[in-house]
Amino acid sequence: MNITNIPSPNFYTGRNNYTPVAIVIHIMEGSLSGTDSWFSSTKSNVSAHYGIGINGDIHQYVKETDSAWHAGRVNAPSWTLIKPGENGMYINPNYYTIGIEHEGNEQSDWTALMYQSSSSLVADISKRWNISLDRDHIIGHHEIYSLKTCPGFKVDLIKLISMASGNPIGNPVSSKPQTTIQSGRATTITRLNIRSKPDRSFAPLNTVDPGIELAYDGFTIQGENVSGNSKWYFTQRGNWFWSGGVI
Ligand SMILES: [Zn+2]
Repeated sequence: MNITNIPSPNFYTGRNNYTPVAIVIHIMEGSLSGTDSWFSSTKSNVSAHYGIGINGDIHQYVKETDSAWHAGRVNAPSWTLIKPGENGMYINPNYYTIGIEHEGNEQSDWTALMYQSSSSLVADISKRWNISLDRDHIIGHHEIYSLKTCPGFKVDLIKLISMASGNPIGNPVSSKPQTTIQSGRATTITRLNIRSKPDRSFAPLNTVDPGIELAYDGFTIQGENVSGNSKWYFTQRGNWFWSGGVI
């Protein structure tokens, strides 16, 4: 893999005695070259370990043994492996994650070259740090910081993980799940996210409060497996919610 080094001054030396346990996927909301200069400036106060272009180019900004500044803020995290700290705070996730930025914005389709480079890089990193290739360890930024939708609405993390695991076709369960048409109603028992695919790697389109009745047009049992339950309902508008969040 061909990696171009473009060092960023924005990082903590070392990892405060932690080691990387997960890889955080980001979208740049901009171009690779724009990100190069943004991360090169001390004014931005942000960085990531890597950036990947739509043409598959890989840039490295921070060494994996140092802590890049890509996921330091935590808000209502849905990530199962987030490390709690003292007084309801969290250990800074920058200490124990590796961040990869991707060229484009939240609504732009990922190119085949970007999937290829990103999955190869994810595979390499996971080998170096013994990180499992699954959805607990390859996560979207919004799973740590819920106020952002990064990495957006297009990337399919199941496909990325599948490709990193050595499946070149990258046939994600979430792309075309088999569905059963059966309309009905369900009531939320928790704050429930509505998504464009039956898969938490897709950022929520909106969130519904507990006690709200939702109409559905059918379901799939091939959605993302959450706590042993892969049944997701779809709505008339083609959006999805997880069956574990309703009765
Ligand atoms: Zn991000």
